[in-house]
Amino acid sequence: MATRILVFGSPAASVPAAVAKATAINSSAGPFEALILVGPVFTPATPDDVVDQIIGGELKFPVPTFFYRTRDLPARLAEHIDLAGRVATNLTCVGVGGVVKTKKGASIAGLGPGFDDRDVQELKFHTGIDVLFTHDWPADIATASAGSGRADVAATPKDSRVRDLALLVQPRYHFAHSPGPFWEREPFKNEGYLSAGAGGERPTRFIAIAPFANADKNKWFYAFTLTVPFRPAPLPDGTTANPYLEAAARKRDAPEEAQAPRRRRRERRDRAPRRVDPSSCFFCLSNPALAQHFITSIGDEAYVATAKGPLPQTSGALGCPAHVLIIPLAHVPTLSLIDDDASRKATVAELARFRDALTRMYEANALVPLTFEISRAGGVHFHVQVVPVSPAAAATVAEHAHALAADAGYALDQRTAGDPADDGDEYFKLACGDTVLHMSLANGVRFDLQFPRRVAAAVLGLPDRADWRACTQTEAEEAADADAFKRAFKSFDFTLE
Ligand SMILES: [Zn+2]
Repeated sequence: MATRILVFGSPAASVPAAVAKATAINSSAGPFEALILVGPVFTPATPDDVVDQIIGGELKFPVPTFFYRTRDLPARLAEHIDLAGRVATNLTCVGVGGVVKTKKGASIAGLGPGFDDRDVQELKFHTGIDVLFTHDWPADIATASAGSGRADVAATPKDSRVRDLALLVQPRYHFAHSPGPFWEREPFKNEGYLSAGAGGERPTRFIAIAPFANADKNKWFYAFTLTVPFRPAPLPDGTTANPYLEAAARKRDAPEEAQAPRRRRRERRDRAPRRVDPSSCFFCLSNPALAQHFITSIGDEAYVATAKGPLPQTSGALGCPAHVLIIPLAHVPTLSLIDDDASRKATVAELARFRDALTRMYEANALVPLTFEISRAGGVHFHVQVVPVSPAAAATVAEHAHALAADAGYALDQRTAGDPADDGDEYFKLACGDTVLHMSLANGVRFDLQFPRRVAAAVLGLPDRADWRACTQTEAEEAADADAFKRAFKSFDFTLE
């Protein structure tokens, strides 16, 4: 189905003029299914009578119209916005983390100025948005474009969080507010999950739109037709590489001198060469091919995802496997390799916070978390696995672990929870209830990465499920389990507070 959408730049200077113009364009060139207003609409300077007429319905946009929330909305108008973001007939504020759908099914998401990280995190779950409109321009958007030569494009401030969001949700159209120039970038390719296997491509068009009826006569409106649902198609002429990935690649390939201090540090600390880049890492959010449907919570320093090939098929009253991974956002094989002291401490603290929240959730369901982690400089991306077990099974952890360790020729150091002994930088650790089993992996000790899962499978009495490859699910099953987990975790999840 085709839907036609009209876009205006910021009409803050005169909302009544924008209503009149939209009405005229809709009758001469329409009908349009939606109007998107990119940029501030209502400000402290908006006359009271205009606010009254909007709320009272005397001043009405001709078609469903969307704007993003700004911090300085007139109080009377802000009070009038209901939970669904409606201000009046045909006028909706796309609020925090909000995604709206038109009647024909086009999904539209907006992100105003001064957003916080939580707003972005909410939107990150909505992969495949058709139209994203943001106040801020995404960082690196001019990379690989002829627009990189324009001074006005270069001078416009850009935000790396908007870039990261756009890279994840891969909108078909991305509009941004421009205080000055109009700029329509060449379409660019999206690599990864949205086009993978679909037999075509899903490019993004980025358009920075000038304020409504501006004196400089920069283009302030844009009309386009979308086919929904999206169908992959050949790339249009002039399509460029993905600017975000291209910029990341150029930074990686930057001259030796620019990266020398960091590289030296890595050489000193890494025993094995790092072979996996964030762009192809299974656990990096910046990997465009990352399987989004596993992700259940995103914090400031770490996120939680359900496990691929979960060990238990279901866990007691939870009604889902609830086998999850806590994963730092930093692409490091050991936490000690996070160079910045403050971010390393913040990461350690948030991993613990997730672990505590999960423990409370499991306990509320009469379960105990069994956690395990492998920290090795030669690894790829550190993470902690968490599997819920019954209290009776938890009591057998030490016994099973020591027996399997003896078979494998490992010596596990048994500690109790809260033991202040240092884990070291390279280690294996498995914990359940009061039992903590630790083994140093320093000095190139050989260690079977599947060992911890074998222990957990023995504890659960599920030896046939020790190999995760024997436990694969369909994507629909994976998504359903992740949803069930999210529901169960909701009241414990501090990232939603
Ligand atoms: Zn990674």
